[in-house]
Amino acid sequence: MLGGVANLVHRTLEGRDVQALVRDLIQKITTHANIQVITNAFIVDHSGMPGLFKTGMQVGPQMFYRQISHGVTILATGALPNRPDEYLLGRHPAIMTQLDADALLAGTPSRTEHWQDVVMIQCVGSRQPDNPNCSRVCCQTAIKNALRILDKNPEAQVWVLYRDMRTYGFQEDYYRLAREKGSSSCAMTRKQPPRVQAEGHRVSVSFTDPILGRPLVVDADALLLSTGFVSDDESTEDLAAIFKVPRTTDGYFLEDHVKLRPVDLSRPGFFLAEPPTPLCPSGKRLPRPRRRRPGPDPAQPRPDQPGGVRGPGGLQKMRRLPDLCPGLSLRGSLYQRGRVFGDRPGQVPRLWGLRLRVSGQGHTTDAV
Ligand SMILES: Cc1cc2nc3c(=O)[nH]c(=O)nc-3n(C[C@H](O)[C@H](O)[C@H](O)COP(=O)(O)OP(=O)(O)OC[C@H]3O[C@@H](n4cnc5c(N)ncnc54)[C@H](O)[C@@H]3O)c2cc1C
Ligand code: SF4
Repeated sequence: MLGGVANLVHRTLEGRDVQALVRDLIQKITTHANIQVITNAFIVDHSGMPGLFKTGMQVGPQMFYRQISHGVTILATGALPNRPDEYLLGRHPAIMTQLDADALLAGTPSRTEHWQDVVMIQCVGSRQPDNPNCSRVCCQTAIKNALRILDKNPEAQVWVLYRDMRTYGFQEDYYRLAREKGSSSCAMTRKQPPRVQAEGHRVSVSFTDPILGRPLVVDADALLLSTGFVSDDESTEDLAAIFKVPRTTDGYFLEDHVKLRPVDLSRPGFFLAEPPTPLCPSGKRLPRPRRRRPGPDPAQPRPDQPGGVRGPGGLQKMRRLPDLCPGLSLRGSLYQRGRVFGDRPGQVPRLWGLRLRVSGQGHTTDAV
């Protein structure tokens, strides 16, 4: 099914409508002349080299065999929302994940209007020996849901029990806003996790406040667990065997270099699309609206004409090229290699290169 985990998320921290974004993107890719969407298919074999790959698949419902030829392979298999068996999750209606709460707050507000005391526990099923990763989205999701609860009921009391609040970049502003609106944050340690007991319709959460140095008990109307992601181990194992690409010990595809080549795999021609692995340093964000820059001014001389605009070091200014894919932006510039070889001022350079910059969902890669 197209959309993946984003089908389950309703609002971003900034208040954007995720379902509208997903619908728009699906509409764009299914109608794009250069994109063919194949669903309900299993990859079964793969061969070739960069530029000349061949991938075989069985396509449902009849499961007939089909082979496609392609130049590069981008793995966009994402990850699975985690549902660990912790803090009575799934055993009491008032205990749910942040993803469940997101759906309730968007779809059935009547079930959340009475929430007066809400406790959130962070890092549930993450940053522990069996899943050492930080999912990177659950802190901002907790802040997002706290703000929505406080918007509906400014008198509500929201407790966030955290190990660290990882609100990246400008998300910190929303953390401050939630504090100003009355949410309380309380640090906890792995050695002293909160204790949860279900009592009738309510849930009792006990924890030690490190500032007060005293145990506290909150009788909550709802307990929201920030459960993050786990890798889709089965899927990545099959694909890694077919494509012969490496995986991490926790089941994510292993990028070539965690900082320098975070979207490249070590096998040439293989890339990751916005890997939801916490190992990816650039983080994962649903795309923000892009400001479209105007195209090249036809009145300006072309770079290969005398008087063409030169940037520093002989590079033309980056110019936007037509979109190849709705999720990517492609910019390019003609690269005046002739200047490097000592062209005299005013002389039209004879040797040109093309520099491309491909940006998508927070990653940028350059090719010359
Ligand atoms: C609670 C929560 C809140 C979030 N809030 C935000 C937010 O506010 N802002 C934000 O930017 N992000 C947020 N995120 C993160 C965001 O949802 C993800 O980053 C995004 O959905 C990842 O998209 P993806 O396409 O990379 O992966 P996925 O959504 O995981 O999609 C991967 C797709 O690949 C398919 N697939 C897997 N294996 C195979 C295979 N072998 N063959 C064929 N198909 C396969 C899967 O079925 C799935 O459809 C949130 C996530 C959660 C859990
Ligand atoms: S994003 Fe926050 S809650 Fe999620 S694993 Fe990281 S620190 Fe824990």
